[in-house]
Amino acid sequence: MPVLNRIAGFSDEMTEWRQHLHQHPELGLECYETAAFVAERLREFGVDEIHEGIAQSGIVALIKGQGDGPVMGLRADMDALPIHEVSGVEHTSTVDGKMHACGHDGHTTMLLGAAKYLAETRNFSGTVALIFQPAEENGGGGEVMVKEGILDRFDIGEVYALHNAPNFIKGGFYTTPGPIMAAVDTFSIYITGVGGHGAMPHECVDPIVAAVSISTAIQTIVSRNHYTLDDLVVSVTQIHAGSSDNIIPEDAFVGGTIRTFDKSVQAMVHKRLAEIVAGQAASYGVTAELDLEVGYPATINDPAKTEFAVSVAQEVAGINAVAPDAGREMGAEDFSYLLEQRPGSYLFIGQGDGPGLHHPAYDFNDEISPVGASFFARLVETAQPPKN
Ligand SMILES: [Zn+2]
Ligand SMILES: [Zn+2]
Repeated sequence: MPVLNRIAGFSDEMTEWRQHLHQHPELGLECYETAAFVAERLREFGVDEIHEGIAQSGIVALIKGQGDGPVMGLRADMDALPIHEVSGVEHTSTVDGKMHACGHDGHTTMLLGAAKYLAETRNFSGTVALIFQPAEENGGGGEVMVKEGILDRFDIGEVYALHNAPNFIKGGFYTTPGPIMAAVDTFSIYITGVGGHGAMPHECVDPIVAAVSISTAIQTIVSRNHYTLDDLVVSVTQIHAGSSDNIIPEDAFVGGTIRTFDKSVQAMVHKRLAEIVAGQAASYGVTAELDLEVGYPATINDPAKTEFAVSVAQEVAGINAVAPDAGREMGAEDFSYLLEQRPGSYLFIGQGDGPGLHHPAYDFNDEISPVGASFFARLVETAQPPKN
């Protein structure tokens, strides 16, 4: 693979870092050991500043180039998932019930690789800010870091991130200008009726009938309230009620997920959900409480920065291994909080065949680490060439 020679030269070291991180997964905002490992490497590389403890266990490190210039932010997520690993690899997780099933061990490694190279060569102007973030899977570490002010504090002007993609060309890239990942909201509906004997429904107010009817009516938001060419998912994913064949229960629960790209579509779904829940509840004589939890916003790539990132990816991976307009996905990503504040781009890097993300047999492919590190390094060197 066409990667920077110097980075290819320490690819074995990157594999060691990655497999060490893989063996020691941590969850949520509590990526303390991971952060300590990252900080130790950054100190070895001789970066200029290391700021620890942001969003609990996050890090922002600065490397200064030759002469003044803008600050580019490069972000890697560090957290793992609550999954029991069955990959069977030698470097399998040493923590029962936790594993790096989304490859954030690889993302951290690729950014460390870029940091080592950039700290050594300094063949750029201005500054690069390395953002190591906890709690991407849930907890919104990206949002916490933004709220703790990293973008203003370090004067970061643009931001980039990479995510690995199983079953896409090994070492290839894909992305898309504009929206690339969806916004995710969660809804919970608590229905209360009047319980009683299963043989005497006339003495009860059955919350199950209301729960099923509400679930069916919710399907009409996508099919009847929404413009068909825009992307929208509203899925009822949970219904819970009852405990026995001869009891009409007192309560029922309906829950699900909403995926949108557009804030006006999101607002429409929230409004229709409230109307459907209230109207259906009234018609069945139950009370129903709707709880809407607004999650990660849509991840929206800046078109110009994406075009630039694509040109760098093409230089690193070859023109045929880069899909510049691959379309959008209904998954979500908290890099969105950084992209809401600063222009930038989010790209996927292919890692070849194998189990998908969040699968218990998944493992990051170490062969792509030098490619990702070269991409990050070339982004900086190309956007901020040295002034002399
Ligand atoms: Zn994930
Ligand atoms: Zn992930």
